[in-house]
Amino acid sequence: MLQVKNLSKTYGDEIKYKALKALNLTVEDGEFIGIMGPSGSGKSTFLNLLATIDQPTSGTIELNGKNPNELNQEAIAKFRRRELGFVFQNFNLMPTLTVEENIVLPLTLDGEKISVMKKKLSRLSEQLGIAPLLKKRIAEISGGQAQRAAVARAMIHQPQLLLADEPTGNLDTKSSKDVMKLLQQLNKREKATILMVTHDPLAASYCQRIVFIKDGQLIGEIRQMNGQKQFYNEIMVNLAKIEGVENEF
Ligand code: ADP
Ligand code: MG
Repeated sequence: MLQVKNLSKTYGDEIKYKALKALNLTVEDGEFIGIMGPSGSGKSTFLNLLATIDQPTSGTIELNGKNPNELNQEAIAKFRRRELGFVFQNFNLMPTLTVEENIVLPLTLDGEKISVMKKKLSRLSEQLGIAPLLKKRIAEISGGQAQRAAVARAMIHQPQLLLADEPTGNLDTKSSKDVMKLLQQLNKREKATILMVTHDPLAASYCQRIVFIKDGQLIGEIRQMNGQKQFYNEIMVNLAKIEGVENEF
């Protein structure tokens, strides 16, 4: 469903910095993929290119046969609003609105009918177990609850692809697990295709496949074969190999 070919991104005019170097990745429909790698390796750059927040220097992205970078500004905005869902480390919710108002915001911006919004909201909130939170304001809920609301907002319009950048980065272990279980449930039950950047091996162990990035290049991948616990161990071993040289023991 997603095909990334020779994707490169160079920042800067006079002093150039190659953040991504000819990256290739194919994602199948319904996959749950984690992207890991040292700080500064190009993970967020990659996600921002997929999110159409930034444009590649060269190479192509195709989502179900469509290259968003060939669209005009208006069509890109529509593409982003309809085909993609986003979850960020800092939740990016509107603090003065209620949970419910935040979740339906993408539909509001798209001019959806109130009756349709209500139907989608009640279905999703039942499914995600956040019905009791709907009338609360963002300031009144915990970080874990806020991120669950953010996941609901990212999924309300049933996007083709959910992109998450360090979704558990600001959460404690218990809340991280809750959010990861939610993403896993969306992946299994709703067949949502998810691409998640994380440095947290526990969060990553919920994925089916992990791709490792270093210095702007994909340097390897592993798949979950024998359960989450063993996958967690494999992730730790791979991270140690990749980052080991730079770490001081
Ligand atoms: P990661 O998310 O893996 O930590 P990033 O994708 O944020 O890494 O950054 C990759 C590299 O590109 C870093 O060296 C970073 O300093 C550089 N970089 C990121 N964004 C910009 C930008 N807007 N302008 C210049 N350099 C950038
Ligand atoms: Mg980053």
